[in-house]
Amino acid sequence: MTDRKDELAGNLAKVEERIAAACIAAGRKREEVTLVVVTKTYPASDVRILSELGVRHVAENKDQDAAPKAAECSDLPLSWHFVGQLQTNKVRSVVGYADLVQSVDRSKLVTALSKEAVKVGREVGCLIQVALDAGSGERGERGGVAPGGIGELADLVAGAPGLRLDGLMTVAPLTGEYAGREQVAFERLMDLSTDLRRVHPAANMVSAGMSADLEQAVAAGATHVRVGTAVLGVRPRLG
Ligand SMILES: *Cc1c(COP(=O)(O)O)cnc(C)c1O
Repeated sequence: MTDRKDELAGNLAKVEERIAAACIAAGRKREEVTLVVVTKTYPASDVRILSELGVRHVAENKDQDAAPKAAECSDLPLSWHFVGQLQTNKVRSVVGYADLVQSVDRSKLVTALSKEAVKVGREVGCLIQVALDAGSGERGERGGVAPGGIGELADLVAGAPGLRLDGLMTVAPLTGEYAGREQVAFERLMDLSTDLRRVHPAANMVSAGMSADLEQAVAAGATHVRVGTAVLGVRPRLG
């Protein structure tokens, strides 16, 4: 193996151990949690190695970086998740490679995603991004709709041609009542997911937890954890 492949294999094994231990601690089956590796800022060559190592879900947060990377890796059996704040003028490009958009947080974005998905004949999975620290009617600093806005947005996605409502996503808030209380934040997301599934039973994905707090996310019931740094290393630049 190359040095980089060795390094990624070692990191992946450690993350896998953490997820497995968290599942045992929570009395959950390992298959209930899907690892999504966040490859932002890292090259397509790393994505290729991860694929060789058995990773099946990767995530990106900037279309400028993601689009060429996805094109270079189009021969690989990967699901691409888009997890960043998404401008409507990037939607056409993102729909070209993303199987899921985890950062759906406003109606304008739903309309744009639907239009482009229909145009290219694709079905795009959508997660509503929830900003747990946003006041009603507001959006989070890092994107996301306030909890009170989930229902309306979910109905809109569910009724939009070309889109599939898959569930909810959040990033643990750095400020406000949930700051430093990741597990409480993720438990709140689970409650919101329970509410959502009363109306949309198939929307059962709960995406929460990153390198630093994946254990808390698994404990709260997350179905997907998004892990970057712990697999790829500290990012060379902000992203
Ligand atoms: C970068 C990023 C992650 C991964 O964060 P790490 O701390 O590197 O694991 C997860 N989710 C989103 C939305 C991100 O932007």
